[in-house]
Amino acid sequence: MAQRVVVIGAGAVGAAIAVETAKRGFEVTLLDPAEPGGDKAASFGNAGWLSVQSVIPPAEPGVWKKIPGYLLDPLGPLAIRPLHLPLIAPWLLRYMTAAWTRERVLAIAEILRPLLVDAPRLNAELAAEAGTPDLVAASSGLMHVFRDRAQFETEKTSWSVRGAVGVEWDELGPHEIRDLQPDLDPRYRFAALVRGGGFCRDPGGHVASIVRLAERMGVRRVAARALDFAFSADRLCGVVTEAGALPATRAVIAAGVRSDPLARWIGLSVPLESERGYHVHFPGLDIGPGATPVMVHDRKVAITRMATGLRVAGQVELAGTDAPANWKRAEVLKTHLLAVFPGLADRIRAAEAKPWLGHRPSTPDGRPVIGRSPRPDVLVAYGHGHIGLASGPKTARIVADLLTDRTPEIPIAGFAPDRFRLFGGRS
Ligand SMILES: Cc1cc2nc3c(=O)[nH]c(=O)nc-3n(C[C@H](O)[C@H](O)[C@H](O)COP(=O)(O)OP(=O)(O)OC[C@H]3O[C@@H](n4cnc5c(N)ncnc54)[C@H](O)[C@@H]3O)c2cc1C
Repeated sequence: MAQRVVVIGAGAVGAAIAVETAKRGFEVTLLDPAEPGGDKAASFGNAGWLSVQSVIPPAEPGVWKKIPGYLLDPLGPLAIRPLHLPLIAPWLLRYMTAAWTRERVLAIAEILRPLLVDAPRLNAELAAEAGTPDLVAASSGLMHVFRDRAQFETEKTSWSVRGAVGVEWDELGPHEIRDLQPDLDPRYRFAALVRGGGFCRDPGGHVASIVRLAERMGVRRVAARALDFAFSADRLCGVVTEAGALPATRAVIAAGVRSDPLARWIGLSVPLESERGYHVHFPGLDIGPGATPVMVHDRKVAITRMATGLRVAGQVELAGTDAPANWKRAEVLKTHLLAVFPGLADRIRAAEAKPWLGHRPSTPDGRPVIGRSPRPDVLVAYGHGHIGLASGPKTARIVADLLTDRTPEIPIAGFAPDRFRLFGGRS
């Protein structure tokens, strides 16, 4: 009898897992109360970057020096709501210490690099298989822009670590930047154009398309929330959902920022926090960066021209999952966009602007948890923070390898779900 796998969560991670496990011959059910690709999931509203260079822990070296200022500036690039601070203090401490020294940053980069190195290609292959190849641009390059070389040098630890793990980039001066980004404010006179980076032209559409592929491969989709697991003599026999129990011999928790309660049921304690992020999307607006998305370092925003319009995304707000959105942050993103593309200001102002808030599912060390839980029939694949769109397909291959008792193609010790156990629970 075929093994029955229930994949919990149909975001970028769960959708890719559903396809990969179906390919390996499992009988798969994909469980999610929401419509795949819909705007409630982080996978809908991200910046679309398929980064090969996002190997630095999100706190970034030296961020701790800036925390007092962030607490005073509710609209800055990293904001912490004061009421939430006591709840997340332990998580925050670990978040900052993950990037405390160059050695720690390098150790994390060495773990993340294999997860990301072929992210554009794997996403492009998945999109092609799904019949939507146009949704992924696998070789656009990704451009980080700075006022000048001196500003780039302020991030020298991060960039030297990237170089040390094999990320390659070309350094561009004003004329080369203008050739690629004619509308960018000419005060940006230095750029690092990351080779091998790509982007997704419609992240929500990409996820929906992967789920349709899964269904064509025989994956059954159930629109319900997972609540618990059922075991018989220590072996998994079902996943309990709002719509009743689903028979299962294996399950994978891939529920993004909502994974923690399920993980706790099976004895796993992972410090998971929402790094809330925002975007403003201008539907149908076909201007801004050319074929290469830009990250503007002094404003900490990513700007991507998507198939569906222009998107500016960014910011980290630590305020939990339930606090209402602070839409002033979306206004700030729009202000940044107008400043970065001054010649396009009239068209941007005239366009419809749709704000969005989403939850990056973040561990403090910037590494997802991928592997077996204390209940070996239940695997976990969540906590992808800033890189879940990019790393979904590689995560899926690791999970499928574990389910078939194969050695995964990259080292996974650095993603061990139990790596936080010495530190106790959530925050
Ligand atoms: C502003 C912003 C910009 C970003 N930019 C990028 C980027 O450029 N590149 C990149 O790679 N990443 C980026 N990210 C991060 C990326 O979006 C996330 O890492 C990724 O979407 C996480 O995917 P996921 O599948 O784990 O979670 P999600 O996409 O959140 O999906 C989880 C799914 O699980 C479902 N679910 C929850 N609870 C249950 C339950 N109990 N039972 C069943 N289903 C459940 C939810 O309904 C949801 O559909 C960005 C994020 C933000 C917020």
